[in-house]
Amino acid sequence: MPELPEVETTLRGLEPFIAGQRLALVRAFRPNLRFDIPADLQQAMQGQRVERLERRAKYMLWHLTSGRIMLMHLGMSGRLRINPNEPIAKHDHIQWQTEDGADIRFYDPRRFGFVDLLDAQNRDQHKSLAALGPEPLGEGFTPEGLFAAIKSRRAPIKGLLLDQRLVAGLGNIYVCEALFTAAIHPTRPGASLSLKDCQRLHAALVAVLEQAIAAGGSSLRDFKQVDGSLGYFSHQWQVYGREGDACPRCDARLQRLQQAGRSSFLCPECQS
Ligand SMILES: [Zn+2]
Repeated sequence: MPELPEVETTLRGLEPFIAGQRLALVRAFRPNLRFDIPADLQQAMQGQRVERLERRAKYMLWHLTSGRIMLMHLGMSGRLRINPNEPIAKHDHIQWQTEDGADIRFYDPRRFGFVDLLDAQNRDQHKSLAALGPEPLGEGFTPEGLFAAIKSRRAPIKGLLLDQRLVAGLGNIYVCEALFTAAIHPTRPGASLSLKDCQRLHAALVAVLEQAIAAGGSSLRDFKQVDGSLGYFSHQWQVYGREGDACPRCDARLQRLQQAGRSSFLCPECQS
């Protein structure tokens, strides 16, 4: 599933093809993905210029000259194909062509992704965006803010970090990696973390996200040789998915435990 760094990488890969470009053709090939595709998608987008792209949590926003915004979520398996140089394929569900001839397709075999239209004026009232907390890489997310938000919470820190109202866009992989980097056990109650812990955790979250974005950026250089699709890149995790392997820091055996139906990966020696 694409997480924040994958969405950021997709946005950066798409930008040169579409930012500032007028959309000459917009077509949807089915009425719905996870939700209905807006019936007026073509009417709202065709002929419009895409002024800029923006990421908010795991959403991509295409700002149109008209003041409307197309919001996109890649879901579980969604990706964007750029200039695939072939006829519309089975899982190409939406197509945008720019005046300059770029051909962009929303490709999603499992169809958990979605697109919607909203007005820039009241974007933060949109149901997907209204409850989101600060961006983890933005100025609104600070060690002090994190400390204040969790200091009276009994819930495990792992679950708190996945709560999009507390901080937006964090997913299971990056939370596991950041807790390892910060040497904090995922089951610790939020209230047990000191300000110092929060400073370490904040720095770890920023570092793992920035490293992944950098890895995604380097994967962009050759994405066209692969299959012209954006959204995924391989990355070496320290603990995620590595149950039974040796801890990269202390050599102890990495563990997996279930928390609220999701797997946490950790080192029982390093993290406490
Ligand atoms: Zn260890």
